Amino acid sequence: MNVSMKGLALAALMTVGLAAGQQPATPPMHAKAAHRLVIKNAMVIYGNAKPPYGPVDIVVQDGLISYIGPADGMPSSSITLPTTPRSSDTVIDATGKYVMPGIVNAHMHWHEERQAGIPQPIQYERNLYLAAGVTTAREVGGDFDKSKRWQAESNAHTIIAPRILVYPFVSKGRTGSPAEIRAWIRDIKEKGADGLKIIGMDRDQLEAIMDEAHKLGMRTATHIAVEETTAKDYVELGVNSIEHFYGVADAALNGIQNFPPDMSYSNEIHRFGRAGELYAQADPEKLHKIIDMMVEKKVAWDPTFSIYEASRDLVRAQAQPWFKDYLHPSMEEYFKGSLDNHGSYFLGWTSSQEAKWKQQYRIWMDAVREFANKGGLVTTGDDAGYIYSMYGFGISRELELHEEAGFHPLEVIEHATWNGAKLLGMEDRIGKVREGFIADLLVVNGNPLDNLKLLNPYGADVMTINGRPASNYSPLGPNDKVQSVHGGGIEWTIKDGIPYHVPTLMREVKEMVSRARTQRIRSTAAQP
Ligand SMILES: [Zn+2]
Repeated sequence: MNVSMKGLALAALMTVGLAAGQQPATPPMHAKAAHRLVIKNAMVIYGNAKPPYGPVDIVVQDGLISYIGPADGMPSSSITLPTTPRSSDTVIDATGKYVMPGIVNAHMHWHEERQAGIPQPIQYERNLYLAAGVTTAREVGGDFDKSKRWQAESNAHTIIAPRILVYPFVSKGRTGSPAEIRAWIRDIKEKGADGLKIIGMDRDQLEAIMDEAHKLGMRTATHIAVEETTAKDYVELGVNSIEHFYGVADAALNGIQNFPPDMSYSNEIHRFGRAGELYAQADPEKLHKIIDMMVEKKVAWDPTFSIYEASRDLVRAQAQPWFKDYLHPSMEEYFKGSLDNHGSYFLGWTSSQEAKWKQQYRIWMDAVREFANKGGLVTTGDDAGYIYSMYGFGISRELELHEEAGFHPLEVIEHATWNGAKLLGMEDRIGKVREGFIADLLVVNGNPLDNLKLLNPYGADVMTINGRPASNYSPLGPNDKVQSVHGGGIEWTIKDGIPYHVPTLMREVKEMVSRARTQRIRSTAAQP
């Protein structure tokens, strides 16, 4: 069999998966820890951007990947391979499927409510993230005590949720004095903070934070506001990651941000509208220099492209097809244009604002691509729950936008897995499909390198020829029947060796949404 024939045979084997909205039976192994789990016949995307390989069998023993080897049916299978399933094993047949490391969502927040007064069950967000393949979630700012409790429960597998890292917002305290900030950091470290999230600091405050963080060995992530400090200050002082687009263009301006005189930073239309003009104001030479500095000082960039996308294409953001069944009423209300809700600044949003944001994305994406070309570490985060971005769907869209920024799908998956592990300092345990590593694995219906949309919890359109999934570039015969079916999606998200059945998680999400909508209709009707 020559190489191209092999490729075709493999494409023919690809499974379509369950269409969103179908009612799948829950397999008995869903959410159950197995002593031994065998994943049969999988193509492997390793995590570090080397080409995929396989098919192989993967053995998971007590949560760790214990063996990766030739699939049964190979010539050597006359002997008992370590992958030969025993009667007590849990087995996932991955024939025609791809297995990749679980995704690290490097920027997220846990929410139990979006619109005030409409509770949103926390399990809704947990299910959506797992369904999108997120096995590790770095919360950069939230309810510290709750998140620490959920972290412990996730580690003990008493809840169904990704692994959680907690980076609380650095508090300025009562006076904002550097001494007070230092004391606060020591205290939060004592209470178990995994790192720190910094936002909006003056230089003296930032110096104190970074010095204290380094003394305590704490990692830091920053959302740089329009303040005294820019990316240059954060890079000089050794922050671990820059989140979003903020602060980088600001460090490359000739002078300051060119905002009009009626600008008010408290008005989010001003804030987000004008923010879309910043990269165009940057001096390209200075931008190259700040990128060089970031690379040299080993500062990672977690761009969170997906969270601002509504600013460049509002209609797209408002018309996402998964809203119909999966958008919780608390978020639905929150997303409606209102200056009372952070990120809901779409009141009279104009074509010119979108055009400026489109230009901003072009320059910003080029900057991120240049940063990676020069050796910088790029990661993925979604920051969902704001600006029409839903948990889970946001991270899968983030991957697509990394491809738009000029990265090969293999590099994109590296950003989402291996780079994420490095950012968190967990590169000895997660981020690769490797023996000895924690079994955080995704079993994907189809090849995500062919189409990153296959990772979307909603699934994707897949072309079939005579009923079999095929590349839409496949040659066609005169009698071939070509159709579009709904397929793709992640079939299993495995965290710590425990398999979670994604169609089941999504069915539960749909039920939560439908219950909340019914309740809301009742309570609205009951109002005088
Ligand atoms: Zn955020």
